[in-house]
Amino acid sequence: MASLQQRLPENVPGDFFVDSTCIDCDTCSQLAPSIFRDHGDQCSVYHQPETVVETQKAMMALVACPTGSIGTTEKHDAHIGIDAFPHHLADNVYFCGFTSEDSFGAWSYLITRPPDEGGNILIDSPRFATQLVKRIETMGGVRQMLLTHKDDVADHARFRERFGCDRVMHADDGAARFGVEKIVSGSEPVELDPDLLVIPTPGHTRGHVVYLYRNKFLFTGDHLAGHVSRRRLTAFRSACWYSWTEQIRSMTRLLEYDFEWVLPGHGEIHHTNASTMHRQLEECVAWMKTRI
Ligand code: SF4
Repeated sequence: MASLQQRLPENVPGDFFVDSTCIDCDTCSQLAPSIFRDHGDQCSVYHQPETVVETQKAMMALVACPTGSIGTTEKHDAHIGIDAFPHHLADNVYFCGFTSEDSFGAWSYLITRPPDEGGNILIDSPRFATQLVKRIETMGGVRQMLLTHKDDVADHARFRERFGCDRVMHADDGAARFGVEKIVSGSEPVELDPDLLVIPTPGHTRGHVVYLYRNKFLFTGDHLAGHVSRRRLTAFRSACWYSWTEQIRSMTRLLEYDFEWVLPGHGEIHHTNASTMHRQLEECVAWMKTRI
């Protein structure tokens, strides 16, 4: 729960505020960019909500914040934010909200599918919050949990315990140590089912992978993200823990695939048509080569 005593001086006066416990994960500024902004090492409120829609966005950010760093001076119905998650993005794909401090506020996603199509899939782990878990249960539970890399596993074990889902992860990111049921290895893509491909993308970490769903949605963990300008793709040079050279190689291999959505753990969601995405990915690779 955010503390008024720790309200950051960068907040504009008014109802919503961010306190000094903010870890600068940028979830709020991405979810409600008309309300929150990154002012440097932390985020703050630069515009107080004025409409119902803005208030809902601010409440969603409050719920999604991994550290409970967003507060209000006035009373609001928390369900305005809570019930908005999982938040629909497109087709049968949702953003889970409820990020976890254990994964530095990384975003996780839910794919809903009937049992005869393989059942629901969680990509990376949200916070194991009762309200979210109940909502996911009413949407059909979780059959598989796809983990992109070791940094974003958060509450994976609790989701496994609750839903009995099989977890998927690459061996080189310690999958055995995490007790993962389906361990992938090597550098070749593996088809999990006809709609779902796991593609090894070493770079950010040694065992990082991305997941391609229906040749349309690419779940990218910390490998690839939209840039804040929303007009290009990017990778995180300063947060590359294993090998930037490997990450460039992995990024280049992604040019073999078609997709329209980049759904990252950190950074902006990016959506465009497949040919524009391909061109932007080429530009991203070219940019990465300038950062060696
Ligand atoms: S979501 Fe919370 S921790 Fe993340 S930047 Fe906003 S206030 Fe800070």
